[in-house]
Amino acid sequence: MSSNNALGKIPIVVNGHAQPGRRLHWQRRAFQLGTIVIAVLIPVSGLFRIDIPAGAFVVLDRQIWFSDFFIVFGLWLALASGLVITYSSLGTVFCGWSCPQNTISEWANRINQKLLGKHAEVSLNGEAMRVSAGKRKWFNWALLGAMFFGVSMLMALIPMFYFFPPSAIWSFITFQYDSRLAGSLHWIYFVFVAMIFLDVAFIRHFMCRFMCIYRVWQHSFKTKDTLHIEHDKSHPEECAKCNFCVNACIVKIDPRNTVTYDACINCGACITACEQIRENRSGGGSLLHFKFGAREEERNNKLLNLNSLIGRTKWTIPLTAIGLSMFVWGLWTYQPYHLAVYQNDQIMQKDKILDYRISIAHKIYHPGIVHVRVEGLPADDFTLSNSTIKFDSIDRENINLHVKDKLSAGVYPLLVHAWSDDGWRDEFRMHHVVTKGS
Ligand code: SF4
Ligand code: SF4
Repeated sequence: MSSNNALGKIPIVVNGHAQPGRRLHWQRRAFQLGTIVIAVLIPVSGLFRIDIPAGAFVVLDRQIWFSDFFIVFGLWLALASGLVITYSSLGTVFCGWSCPQNTISEWANRINQKLLGKHAEVSLNGEAMRVSAGKRKWFNWALLGAMFFGVSMLMALIPMFYFFPPSAIWSFITFQYDSRLAGSLHWIYFVFVAMIFLDVAFIRHFMCRFMCIYRVWQHSFKTKDTLHIEHDKSHPEECAKCNFCVNACIVKIDPRNTVTYDACINCGACITACEQIRENRSGGGSLLHFKFGAREEERNNKLLNLNSLIGRTKWTIPLTAIGLSMFVWGLWTYQPYHLAVYQNDQIMQKDKILDYRISIAHKIYHPGIVHVRVEGLPADDFTLSNSTIKFDSIDRENINLHVKDKLSAGVYPLLVHAWSDDGWRDEFRMHHVVTKGS
């Protein structure tokens, strides 16, 4: 036996983590970073946020009420059906390519390895952490703790952007008084920081593997055609001596034997790991790749058959399109003000209703001016407490309509007109009833 043949029989088992460094790897990093940037940009740009005092969602600076049916239902329909399409076609790809929990866990693993050595990762498998002898320095531990704490503080700020404008967040981090911030907010924030620190320092991918309900939820939509890792079995002798992809796998499964309902998050780390080892070894490409359609051993014929996926997307794609159309239509026809008139029974005179509350709600986070006029009675027979309202931002204001107590018995149809300087107009029909003897 030649020395080359003999060497070829020695199994190559790579311990520790592979260092993927190919295009797919950098695409994934860009996605992961992009998700965090988008998570901040969505509320900061005004695309979507939550107004706690008003108890309402805000889309593009518009306060959304449940009565804004097209926006609420359209968005729900588009999101629900769009997510079903994503889960069915791409599986748990969100976990591998976007989930911030996974992103910071991967980052924490890398920093951990850099500062304490490649066997120093946290493990809840019962294996003790092994810090490299040359890295057992208090400075490394302190730096690791400081970096984890700093990232936890930054990540805990992100949800706040959904509840407060950036200027209020700035007041928060510079400890300035701001009437928009609750007094207990610093406590709430530090509870979040502590939870994220615990996650970054100790939990990391155990969350993905054993604790994440969202991953289980995404799982339930998978089909046998969902995107998965397929193994090219044409080089069994190479794989028999190698486990580089297994070591690269975040969720600790064997990428060569994936099944429909396994823990794979389609991150592609195994693909780049294999590409890297094979390139170094023989100049060949990866034996693992992403694939739609049934696995080779489950396929009845050679043709790619996506029946289960097509069957599902056939009804979800039209629903997503309908939802998006409704959402856009809702935004297009959005009413920036709301007019309503109520009997003002707090001001009753001898059991007679003579006062009405004209209520105007301003639903946009910009200044606005609204004018009101009443039709149906001679000008001498009623008074308005005001005929113009100036709004600085979203708010609700009332105008009192008082009908004088001199009308003869009968039903008086009234029309309340309201219009704004920026083009909105509406009217409200009501009846003022005067009974005999009143
Ligand atoms: S698929 Fe690639 S990385 Fe995995 S065992 Fe085979 S050769 Fe090694
Ligand atoms: S099998 Fe590959 S794609 Fe799936 S989680 Fe493991 S490394 Fe990622």
